[in-house]
Amino acid sequence: MHLHLILLLLALSAARVGFLYLSPFGPCPKCKSRGNIQRGKRRPVCLRCKGLRRIQRPGSRAIHRIVRRVRQGRQAAARYQREDRP
Ligand SMILES: [Zn+2]
Repeated sequence: MHLHLILLLLALSAARVGFLYLSPFGPCPKCKSRGNIQRGKRRPVCLRCKGLRRIQRPGSRAIHRIVRRVRQGRQAAARYQREDRP
């Protein structure tokens, strides 16, 4: 049985989604949050974060879009219920 494995994966993905929602930005892994890369004597600005030293974590944008849509849907439903009452 792989039920435990599936439950573990579900729990991990739920934790990942919550983590991405709470902290959508993280330190840049490319330049290790220095903003530039040591390349011989030159130190060009990091292309990944463009010198910002942090990046938006992949997936966080999608999660925020989904949460916004759900909230808007709930507001619309609440408005509809109020209008429906006599
Ligand atoms: Zn960087």
